[in-house]
Amino acid sequence: MKFFVASKGDHKSNMIKTMVEQYLLDFDLEISKEEPDLVISVGGDGTFLYSVHDYFHRLEKTAFIGLHTGHLGFYADWLPDEIEKLVIAISKNQFEIKEYPLLSMSLTIEGESEPKKYLALNEATIKKIDGSLVVDVNINGQHFERFRGDGLCVSTPSGSTAYNKALGGAIVHPSLSTMQVTEMSSINNRVFRTIGSPLILPSHHKCQFVPLNRDQNFVITIDHMTKSVDNVVSLEYTVAKERIRFARFRSFPFWQRVRESFISDEY
Ligand code: NAP
Repeated sequence: MKFFVASKGDHKSNMIKTMVEQYLLDFDLEISKEEPDLVISVGGDGTFLYSVHDYFHRLEKTAFIGLHTGHLGFYADWLPDEIEKLVIAISKNQFEIKEYPLLSMSLTIEGESEPKKYLALNEATIKKIDGSLVVDVNINGQHFERFRGDGLCVSTPSGSTAYNKALGGAIVHPSLSTMQVTEMSSINNRVFRTIGSPLILPSHHKCQFVPLNRDQNFVITIDHMTKSVDNVVSLEYTVAKERIRFARFRSFPFWQRVRESFISDEY
């Protein structure tokens, strides 16, 4: 099996990267940055996002595992004192693959022949730099609402514990192939009205944001990436056909991770 260890770049993560690499080489596994079967991301959930984006072009062939050098994470759910157990399990190929849904976003810019396609593991957001964001929200081609406010977030189930949670969205189990739309400070009064609740859409639905005025400048984020865009015709979101594959070496149920991350790790 070919593997690659990605590091957050701090001293502790780099030391653990070197240690994991050495152990796995001792077990006769091969390092391959270009074509790994397994990527071990050392750092945090943020580092994990970077690692996954580097391999979006080979999701069918690469599985991921996260090792946290701070607190327990959602993607990075192994801790440094478990390295030996993890390395032995990797060397014996004793893992199962768990697939989670991703979000697909198509950005159509005026004058460009093809929409730009993006994949997100956590979420994609749209905000406006100055003033309120004003977009028509269409669901499956039908007008749903005119949104005015700070912005909108569309998240995956596994991203539901990230930005989405801070926006009051629901935590969604990643076995459900869905996407969730949450509002950022919508303006609601006698003139402007939005639904005000997060919306959870199934995998065969499409959600589209159409800016009222194309001369506006928007900030879009896709996980950790931020882009400034002009002349936006539309943004379209669906649950992606591609899925991310996690290498699972032990059972760690999602709701247990939620409890340990947000409530308490004492039982
Ligand atoms: P960052 O601002 O440096 O870190 C964002 C935080 O989100 C980190 O504590 C990270 O955990 C945590 N996180 C990432 N994915 C998560 C998940 N699926 N469930 C629970 N927590 C998660 O930014 P970054 O490291 O580049 O990560 C980008 C992500 O930050 C975005 O995808 C977005 O979800 C999140 N974000 C959140 C808010 C907010 O909550 N108000 C605002 C902006 C962005 P680690 O410490 O383990 O890395």
